[in-house]
Amino acid sequence: MSAITMRRPIQAAAEDRSFWLQDIEATAATKPLNGDSNADVVVVGGGYTGLWTALRLVAMAPDTRVCVVEAGCCGSGASGRNGGQVHSWYAEIDTLAEVVGDTEARRLCAASAEAIEELATLQTSGAIDMDLRLDGWLWTASSKAQEGAWARAAAATAAAGVRRFRNLSAEEIARRTGSSASYAGIAEDRAGSVHPAKLAKGLRDLAIASGVRVFENSPIRRIVPGACCSVETDRGALRTPKVVLAANAWLAGIPALRRHMFVVQSQIIATEPLPDMLDAIGWKDGAAICDSQRQVLYYQRSQAGRVIFGHGSGRIAFRDDFGTEFNRSRDRGQANRTELARVYPMLSDARITHDWAGPVDCTSDHMPIFDRLPGHPNIFFGLGFNGTGIAQTPVAGRILASLVLGRADEWARSGLVGVARRRALPPEPIRYCGARIIRAAVRRRNAAEIAGHRPGRLTRFLSNLAPGNG
Ligand SMILES: Cc1cc2nc3c(=O)[nH]c(=O)nc-3n(C[C@H](O)[C@H](O)[C@H](O)COP(=O)(O)OP(=O)(O)OC[C@H]3O[C@@H](n4cnc5c(N)ncnc54)[C@H](O)[C@@H]3O)c2cc1C
Repeated sequence: MSAITMRRPIQAAAEDRSFWLQDIEATAATKPLNGDSNADVVVVGGGYTGLWTALRLVAMAPDTRVCVVEAGCCGSGASGRNGGQVHSWYAEIDTLAEVVGDTEARRLCAASAEAIEELATLQTSGAIDMDLRLDGWLWTASSKAQEGAWARAAAATAAAGVRRFRNLSAEEIARRTGSSASYAGIAEDRAGSVHPAKLAKGLRDLAIASGVRVFENSPIRRIVPGACCSVETDRGALRTPKVVLAANAWLAGIPALRRHMFVVQSQIIATEPLPDMLDAIGWKDGAAICDSQRQVLYYQRSQAGRVIFGHGSGRIAFRDDFGTEFNRSRDRGQANRTELARVYPMLSDARITHDWAGPVDCTSDHMPIFDRLPGHPNIFFGLGFNGTGIAQTPVAGRILASLVLGRADEWARSGLVGVARRRALPPEPIRYCGARIIRAAVRRRNAAEIAGHRPGRLTRFLSNLAPGNG
C-alpha cells in the first residue's frame, strides 16, 4: 500500500502567534520524536481533538500505550488561537438533527453540555487553570436580518424538553456588553469563555500525567499503512497497529479527506488591557458574545480586560494550500478593526496589540465527520468542527476512542460516524472559484444587512449557497 503523505503546518513566527500563545509563552514541554519506537495507538495532532482522544483512551483502557505526535507545541493549531467561546451544541441542534436525526442530535447536545461541566470540574479542582468563566454565552442580533437567527435551534431545544436558552432584552445586552450594537438575542447561561491556550497546555500536561507519551516539534511526514503502520517524522518513526488523525485543517492534504472539507481563515484581534474602560461601560464579566452575521462576529473580555474580537470573514484556501496568511493576514485583521469600531465606537483609541488568524476545518453540512480513512481500517480520523470545538472536541474524543478500541457503544455508533453517508464537495478548481464567489456575496450581504439595506436578489441567491449558510 502506498504511503500517506501528511501536510506539515507552517509554524507562525513568534510575533505572529496568537495573543493566547504569546500570553503564556507557550513552548514544547516534551522532546521531539527521535529514533524508532512502538505504541498501541498513535494520535497525530496535539490540539484539543488529539489530546481529548488520548485522555479518553487511557481512561477507558489504562494499559494502552498512547502517543501524541504534534508538529509544533500542543495548541499551536486552532486550539491555541481560537476565540475562547464555550457553548454547547444546542445552538446547532437543528443542523445536527438534519445530519444524525433528532434522537442522536439530542444525545450529542447533552454530551456537549456535560463537556462544559467537565471543563468546570477541571477548572475548580485545579487540574487545569484555563480561566474558565461560565458567565454565559450571548447569541445576539445586530441587524434586522439577524433577528431570530436562533429561533430554530431554540425551538428544537425546547422541543427536546431542555431549558438551555432564555430570551435577552435589549437592555440586558447593552448592560452586560457595554454596547448597543446588538439589541435582541438569547443566552445560554451555562456557557462562557476560556483562555484557549491555557486549556490546550492543561490538556497536554494532563495527558502526560496520565501516561500518554507526547512528542512535540515532530511534524509527521508520512504514514506507511498496513497491519502495523509506520508513522514517520524526519528523525524517527512509531510503529503502531492504530493511528488517529487529529490534524484538523491540515487533513485537507489527504485527498480522500479533502473531498469532504474546505479550509477557511478566521481572524482575531486583541486590544491592550482596558479593564477600567470596560468596567465603566458595564462590560464586566467573562460572557462569550456573538452576533448572527453569516460570517459570525465573536468577542469576549479577557481575564485581564482585553477585548478579544474575532470575525469569520477570512479567505478560503485553494486545495490544501494555506500558509503564513492563515497564521496572520497581511492586512492585520482590517475587517475586525472595522467591526470593532462599529460595535464599540468608544474604544476607537484603544491600541490593537495582537492580530492573528487560524484555519477552520469546514464540512458541507457544517458538522464533524468521524470514520476510518477509506481503504485503511486501522487509521481513524475526526475533522470538521466548523469553528466550534471547545465543548465539542471532548465529545469527539469519546467517539474516536470508542472507534479505536473497537467498542460497540453509543459513541462508536454515533450518527457522526460514517464518511460515505456525508455529502462530498465539488472538486478543485470548481470548489475554490465557487467558494470565492459565494463568500464575496456573503460579505456584500453582511454589509448591506448591517447597514439596514436589503441585498440584491443575486447576492441573496449566492449567499444562500454557502454551506451552513455562513
Ligand atoms: C480563529 C479561530 C477561532 C475559533 N473560535 C472558536 C471559539 O470561540 N469557540 C470554539 O468552540 N471553537 C472555536 N474555534 C474552533 C476550535 O478552535 C477548533 O474546533 C478546535 O481547536 C479543533 O481542535 P483540533 O485538535 O481538531 O485542531 P487543532 O488545534 O488545529 O490541532 C491540530 C494539530 O495538528 C497538528 N498537525 C497538523 N499536521 C501535522 C503533522 N503533519 N504532524 C504532526 N502534527 C500535525 C497541528 O500543528 C495542530 O496543533 C476557532 C477556530 C479558529 C481557527
